[in-house]
Amino acid sequence: MSVTEQKTPTNFIRQIVEKDITENKHPCGVVTRFPPEPNGFLHIGHAKSICLNFGIAEDFNGRCHLRFDDTNPEKESTEYIEAIKRDVSWLGYRWYGDLRYASQYFQSLYEFAQELIRRDKAYVCELNAAQIREYRGTLTESGKNSPYRDRPSEESLKLFAGMREGNYEEGQMVLRAKIDMASPNLNMRDPTLYRIRHAHHHQTGDKWCIYPMYDFTHCISDALEGITHSLCTLEFEDHRPLYDWVLDNITIDCHPQQIEFSRLDLAYTVTSKRKLNEMVKQNIVEGWDDPRMPTLSGLRRRGFTPDSIRDFCRRVGVTKQENLIEYELLEYCIREDLDKHAPRAMAVLNPIKVLIENYPQDQVETLKLPNHPQCAEMGQREVPFSREIYIDRADFEEVPPPKYKRLTLAKEVRLRGAYVIRCDRVIKNEQGEVVELICTYDPDTLGKNPEGRKVKGVIHWVAAATAETAEVRLYDRLFTVPQPDKAEGEYIDYLNPESLEVLTEAKVEPSLRQSQVGGSFQFEREGYFCVDPDSTDNRLIFNRTVSLRDGWAKQQQKK
Ligand code: ATP
Ligand code: MG
Repeated sequence: MSVTEQKTPTNFIRQIVEKDITENKHPCGVVTRFPPEPNGFLHIGHAKSICLNFGIAEDFNGRCHLRFDDTNPEKESTEYIEAIKRDVSWLGYRWYGDLRYASQYFQSLYEFAQELIRRDKAYVCELNAAQIREYRGTLTESGKNSPYRDRPSEESLKLFAGMREGNYEEGQMVLRAKIDMASPNLNMRDPTLYRIRHAHHHQTGDKWCIYPMYDFTHCISDALEGITHSLCTLEFEDHRPLYDWVLDNITIDCHPQQIEFSRLDLAYTVTSKRKLNEMVKQNIVEGWDDPRMPTLSGLRRRGFTPDSIRDFCRRVGVTKQENLIEYELLEYCIREDLDKHAPRAMAVLNPIKVLIENYPQDQVETLKLPNHPQCAEMGQREVPFSREIYIDRADFEEVPPPKYKRLTLAKEVRLRGAYVIRCDRVIKNEQGEVVELICTYDPDTLGKNPEGRKVKGVIHWVAAATAETAEVRLYDRLFTVPQPDKAEGEYIDYLNPESLEVLTEAKVEPSLRQSQVGGSFQFEREGYFCVDPDSTDNRLIFNRTVSLRDGWAKQQQKK
């Protein structure tokens, strides 16, 4: 049974898997893997790959491995490994068996490389990086053979052993596959298989000073694990011939099928670990889990749920078509989820005080309001009402625009779940700004309409004496253009200076005092908010996950 409540629609990869199952191509079951490089935190693009790989394993009774592709020790760290494990688990997936690391296979990979050398399919090359580039040729010009290409296998074997022993400097030599310097596919022009790196590795320590390249490592790791379908993004399409070449030229009895699909690109953000890393390092954001980041940890802190992200991936689907996904779709998915599950509460983000003159001085009424309008099982909460309350500044206009339904002078409005009030006069400061509203209430309007007149507007409020002051962080798009990494200049030139707005004097109802970090609420008429981990016992901090307005669903209806 899938962890997603809704069934995943089929796609071309699922169809291939189904056909293979029908033809009994994989009698021991389907095996997929999610192979992140531990060089950063996972982002929303990775979620697509996770949902695809783990989803197929779940739905077809197969297995999905979590394997760290850890062949670049200098860029990797155990912090990233832990973050990736956390994020995959949070999305609701369980990897099959133990965690796996490409580095577990370093000895086998080394032996396979020796086999290639013995078969005259690989050689140690002493050209330097610049020369290798020069010899490679271009898309329109074929490359030329390295002068070391025809050295005897014995010599390459000895040099390769010396590389492993640490006898040479970084860059002094590399191991290359011997394929075809005239191939129209540049990846096939004697690609590098191993390079020297005198680097400490987070898993293997100082055991190795040569590290295998991705293209050599990936296919063999897949084959060693008995992966049946190796699913990756389209940029690896041109690497598939090399994937197949390596497996065809070594002694191994498994040959996974590589299938490519298009990357997920989300508008108004970047999904590249390198760029996300830069933003973290340059303190453009507050960390990998900054709620504006498209990382899974950022989205989690922002208040996104695993269900909403899986739903998003399900809706995005899997194709070979490059496409940019609208941010509104992601927002739509979280709104759908939180609308069902988030308890309601009242919070006044930009408070202005209201004095209800005819309400008894020391009286406090405890009103009972439902936690969810459609879901009685979610219960009720107590909301105190008293003579002084806060409403939002935006809910009062001295000179109202036409059709204004909120509070204005001499007009009535309903306080959500409480009474109808009328504004009689305003108090202004020296600058002429309204600082307080003096109102009267109609005691006969609790839970019923006033006699003989209609009150259309409803606004939210919080009783002043019992209010809790909270910080509220409002987030907007991180970038000002849909595709910052395709725009002219640097993506960093398109940062949205208004991506974070902090309100420090919000007033929230006392029931929220007990809320736990990560807990989500719908603040009536404002949006969905969740408790940020920066909150302390004395100070609640809320992140706005998403506002209530839903542009995306309306747009879809029009289409
Ligand atoms: P980045 O460009 O962010 O560094 P990557 O491809 O280098 O991404 P990996 O850790 O190697 O990151 O990715 C692990 C898996 O996730 C790979 O199979 C990769 O194809 C897939 N993946 C990465 N980015 C996306 C994306 N935007 N959409 C779908 N799948 C992705
Ligand atoms: Mg990668």
